[in-house]
Amino acid sequence: MINIFKDFLLNVFFILLPVFLVPFWMEREKGTERLRLYLPTACYAAVIVLCITLPVEAGSSFIFDLRQIPLWLGSLYGGAGAAAFLSCTAIVYRSLFGGAGVLVNALVSIVIAAASSVLTKTFVRLPTKQRTLLATALSFASGLLTAVLTVWINTPDRPPLSVSLLFLLMQPSSMAVACLFQEMVHHNIALRKRIIRAEKMEAITHLAASISHEIRNPLTAARGFIQLIEEQPLAADKRRQYARIAMEELDRAEAIITDYLTFAKPAPETPEKLNVKLEIERVIDIIRPLANMSCVDVKTTLAPFSVIGEREKFRQCLLNVMKNAIEAMPNGGILHIYVSVEQGRLLIRIADTGVGMTKEQLERLGEPYFTTKGIKGTGLGMMVVYRIIESMNGTIRIESEIHKGTTVSIYLPLAPSPSSATISDKEKQLFAAL
Ligand code: ADP
Ligand code: MG
Repeated sequence: MINIFKDFLLNVFFILLPVFLVPFWMEREKGTERLRLYLPTACYAAVIVLCITLPVEAGSSFIFDLRQIPLWLGSLYGGAGAAAFLSCTAIVYRSLFGGAGVLVNALVSIVIAAASSVLTKTFVRLPTKQRTLLATALSFASGLLTAVLTVWINTPDRPPLSVSLLFLLMQPSSMAVACLFQEMVHHNIALRKRIIRAEKMEAITHLAASISHEIRNPLTAARGFIQLIEEQPLAADKRRQYARIAMEELDRAEAIITDYLTFAKPAPETPEKLNVKLEIERVIDIIRPLANMSCVDVKTTLAPFSVIGEREKFRQCLLNVMKNAIEAMPNGGILHIYVSVEQGRLLIRIADTGVGMTKEQLERLGEPYFTTKGIKGTGLGMMVVYRIIESMNGTIRIESEIHKGTTVSIYLPLAPSPSSATISDKEKQLFAAL
C-alpha cells in the first residue's frame, strides 16, 4: 500500500512541475505568442507521458496513474485544440503498452476532451474557488467513469478494489492541490507586476514635486525677459539677445517635461541593446532636480558599453538606486557613477557619501516594505532593483559604512559587440565616439 501511495506521489510531483515552471519561464522569456500558446500544452503532454511511463504498480494490466489531471488542466485552459492534442497523446502513448486498460483509457480521454472543449470558456472565466471546485469535481467524475468502465468491460485482470478506491480519492485531491498551486503562482506573478507599477507611480509622484520646481525657474526667467522686451524700448540686437535667452529657457523647460513624460508613460517592453552611458546620462537628467534640491554633486566616469535589457526597466532600476543615494545625503554630498568592465562583465558603480547603513539594515535591503524613511518610503525600491537585475542575468554587491556612505555595484553581462567583419572603420569610429 505504501508503495502504491509513493507511486501516486511521484505522479503528483510530475503534475506540479509545469504548474511552477511554465509561468516563470513564460514571464522570463516574454516569448512570441506562439510560445505562449503551445508551451503549456507541450508540457502537459510531457506530463501525461511521464505519468503513463511511471505509473502506480498495481499488479494488473490496468495502468493506474494521474494522467487525467494534466489532460483536464491542459484541455480546460488550452481549449479544443489542446484537448484534441492531449487526448491523442494519451491514447497513442497508452496503447503502446497494451492490456485491458487501452480501451477504457481511449473512451475516458475522448470524454474528457469533449467535455473540456465545451466547458473551457466558462472555466477560464470562473473565480478561483469555483474553478478549483469544478476541476476537482470533473477529475472525480472522470475517475468514477474509469472505475465503472473497468468493471463494465469486465476483464478477468481487474485491479484490486483498494487501488481503485485510492485512485478515486487521490485523483480529485491531487487535482485540488494542483489547481490551488496554479492559482497561487498566477496570483504571485500578478502581485509582483502590481508592486513594480506601484513603485513606479511612487517614484513619479516624488519626482513630480521636484520637477514642477525645476520647470518654474526657466519659465520665470523666460517671462522676465519677455516682459523686458515688451516694457522697454530696446536696441534691436538687445531685443534679439533677450528673445534668444527666453527661447533657450523655454526649451529647457520643454526638455524637462519631455524627460518626465518619457519616464512616466507606460511603454511596451522588449529587450534591446542599451548603451549604458546614454541610459545613465538620461537617468541623471531625470534625477538632477532631486539632486539639486539636496545640494548633491553628481560626478560621472562613464564608458559606452552595451547590455541587453528592457529600456524602461533598466532606467527604473538605475533611478531607484540613485534616488536612494540622493535621499541618503539630505545635507548634500557627492554621487559618483562609474562604469567599467571587470572580468568580462559590465560594472556600474553608484557610490554616495551619505548616511550609510548598519549591518542589519544591509542584510534586510531588498526585503519588501523594509524602509527607514517612515511614511516617505515604500521599501519597494530595492526589491524592484534586485528583480530587474536578476531578470537581466546580473548581480548586485552593496557595501556600506555608517556615516560614510554606500556603494552599489551592479554587474551585468555585456552585449555581444558587432563583429569586426560586418562593420566598417567609419562605423567603428562612430561607436567609439558614442
Ligand atoms: P525606500 O527608499 O522607499 O525606503 P528602498 O527599497 O529603496 O525603499 O530602500 C530601503 C531602505 O534601504 C531605505 O529605507 C534605506 O534605509 C536603505 N537604503 C537604500 N539605499 C541606501 C543608501 N544608498 N544609503 C543609505 N541607506 C540606503
Ligand atoms: Mg528607495
